[in-house]
Amino acid sequence: MAAREVEDIFADILDRAKALDPANARKWFDNLTILHLDGGALGIGCPDEATVQFLCDNCKSSFNRAAQQITGHLVSVDFRIDNHKGASRHPRRLESLLKLHPDYTFENFVVGPSNRLANASCVAVSQSLGNTYNPLFLYGNSGLGKTHLLHAVCCEARQRSDGAVIQLLSCEDFVNRFIRAIEQGNLAGFQSQFRTVDMLVIDDIQFLREREQSQEEFFHTFNALYNNGKQIILSADSPPAEIPSLEARLISRFNWGLVARIDPPSYETRVAIVQKKAHLRGLTIADEVSEYIAQQVQANIRELEGALTTIYALAITTGEKIDIDLAQTALERQIKLAARHISITDITNVVTRHFDVRLGDLQSKRRNQSIATPRQICMYLARNLTKHSLEEIGGHLGGRDHTTVMHACGKIAGVKETDPQMHALLEELTEQITQTAQV
Ligand code: ADP
Ligand code: MG
Repeated sequence: MAAREVEDIFADILDRAKALDPANARKWFDNLTILHLDGGALGIGCPDEATVQFLCDNCKSSFNRAAQQITGHLVSVDFRIDNHKGASRHPRRLESLLKLHPDYTFENFVVGPSNRLANASCVAVSQSLGNTYNPLFLYGNSGLGKTHLLHAVCCEARQRSDGAVIQLLSCEDFVNRFIRAIEQGNLAGFQSQFRTVDMLVIDDIQFLREREQSQEEFFHTFNALYNNGKQIILSADSPPAEIPSLEARLISRFNWGLVARIDPPSYETRVAIVQKKAHLRGLTIADEVSEYIAQQVQANIRELEGALTTIYALAITTGEKIDIDLAQTALERQIKLAARHISITDITNVVTRHFDVRLGDLQSKRRNQSIATPRQICMYLARNLTKHSLEEIGGHLGGRDHTTVMHACGKIAGVKETDPQMHALLEELTEQITQTAQV
């Protein structure tokens, strides 16, 4: 990972840690540096021994939590004296948008029958940009490793062909940049940013649906790159022809190269993934525990990782070692939730009753706090307790767009972290919702 990406991630972690531990932050969190971030370990450099000692004794858990929240992974934090403090060790690379997740490499990707073709085609592309499968189109349900593979290709390609200009971004980001470019009258800048690269990687391209003008722009970007033999990689949740209201000319282009499907992983692959993820975090877990997790969580790998995180969190709070009993206790609640089909209506019923507001208020344009807070809580709970997309949730709550929902979820999650009352309220509402939902 380039130095800048690591430093950006560290800056975010530091901000989050400050929010979690404001009392200590004022005195102790300045002058910290990042030493390394890899394989689930974050090394933080301190100016002196006293700081190392203090942070180890008092702030480790805030940093662990902050790192976990920002990276979405279990990260173990370690404090050491930074001998190079002051000197700029990493030259800053500012030219690219590329932000690669440190753990999303080919090495950390477990290959099985469900993802073998996708993995092999990504490896092939990374070794020779533009010369094998172009475009490469990966599709599969959420949480099956598409984003992981896209990052892995970029990581590998960057190491192999130093100097290659690579852009990796979500389709949403692409669309937003396009809109901003139009607003600022800088379309030429936007076009040169994306039409002159050696490899363009766009994640979740289904986001283009119903965005006619963005589709038009992407069509020209695609042609410019393709005609110059530049590599294009796309991912989506369905094959090209099944993306709703995608222009026919785009569908046909997406099928020009290789279309590779990723299926849900088999039991053996799930066991191997749990072991890999545990190992990456420096945890050793018994075979029976990884087998248990793989049996319980079948649908997708993000949930598999979530289960491991839940177990790890319980082990930390209780100080017990991770064994099958602890794993069962930790997952019981999660399993209970999964067995029920919670609908957005179940959520709005409970929330409107609790706050004594009407559903019509939540769906209205009103923005005063007494309405906005329950509305945001509904969004947060719907995101966490159902499988509905951001767009669907927004649709249910008065036709709000996905960015509003995303913002609400982030806001409530932040308040929950720092405000014990909000934490308790969300727990209470969740309990009521699961009780009323159908089994
Ligand atoms: P998607 O983009 O398809 O929704 P992600 O790439 O975000 O899914 O994957 C979700 C999580 O599962 C990530 O943490 C990723 O590292 C992990 N994951 C998915 N597939 C594998 C795999 N085959 N081996 C290891 N980890 C995987
Ligand atoms: Mg993804």
